[in-house]
Amino acid sequence: MHAMVLKKLGAPLEWTDLADRHPGPGEIRLKVAACGVCRTDLHVVDGELPDPKVPIVPGHEIIGRIDAVGAGVEGLQVGERVGVPWVGHTCGVCPYCVGGHENLCDRPLFTGYTRDGGFATATIADARYAFPLGEAGSDVTLAPLLCAGLIGWRSLVIAGEGQKLGLYGFGAAGHIVAQVAAWQGRSVFAFTRPGDAPTQAFARRLGATWAGGSDERPPETLDAAIIFATVGDLVPLALKAVRKGGRVVCAGIHMTDIPSFPYRVLWEERQLVSVANLTRQDGIDFLRLAPQIGIVTQTTSYPLDQANQALADLRAGRFEGAAVLVP
Ligand SMILES: [Zn+2]
Ligand SMILES: [Zn+2]
Repeated sequence: MHAMVLKKLGAPLEWTDLADRHPGPGEIRLKVAACGVCRTDLHVVDGELPDPKVPIVPGHEIIGRIDAVGAGVEGLQVGERVGVPWVGHTCGVCPYCVGGHENLCDRPLFTGYTRDGGFATATIADARYAFPLGEAGSDVTLAPLLCAGLIGWRSLVIAGEGQKLGLYGFGAAGHIVAQVAAWQGRSVFAFTRPGDAPTQAFARRLGATWAGGSDERPPETLDAAIIFATVGDLVPLALKAVRKGGRVVCAGIHMTDIPSFPYRVLWEERQLVSVANLTRQDGIDFLRLAPQIGIVTQTTSYPLDQANQALADLRAGRFEGAAVLVP
């Protein structure tokens, strides 16, 4: 197999020949068909997340077909198309796993961060964290659903039922969540980098009621807001934009420092929460709903060996939607 491997934090990925592995007990092997590129991959490459496995094959929005099944795997067959997300393994016995919060597992493995991911022609996955996808939809357009879609979905559920929803950051996750929220009959208010007219137009095309810069106040007070951008300065801005009792959800795994702000910005029972990872139930719920909603993902494909270019373009914001690597 071939993979784009991070051998040193901060260095470019290197095209590498690796020996084919056989799946162990409870594991499956996939022939990778597509793998999305996520902002978290940048955090891994840049060394912004603690204790990565190095060398590591990044990539945690994997679409592939099973070509080998390990001992004890039930319910998955060779030839079946599956998706593998960010959470790649949980222990099943810690208090969080036992209590229904496996997203907070004490001993997890994360795909493309602490276990090898999908910037490769093949990968090994924990069968419990491989979601059957059926045959509807192309590999490339499904890939962003596996992280941007799933984390976005969990963030949307945690944001609550509010009708007027703000989305700060309108990239891979924002453009999926906007479609889900619009399908649910909500009004979406999309915030982009100040002056980013193309992304604001993109948001309006996907059903946003309003789109503007993150420095602008929305025309109406919001019930809830989700922050996908990794900019801590957005936290007090979002709190100011939500109503009394409103909720602000931070969806990123990493954010720059949040500046201090007057207590009155939080006062009146406004809530500030974060979302971490996902549960298997999130995956089942969202991937069942996605075809009904008819989510259209905007993607830019790159050959696998162009992974460094894809990461650079993501960093610079050179495309709308999501980048996807194709082996
Ligand atoms: Zn991700
Ligand atoms: Zn656990």
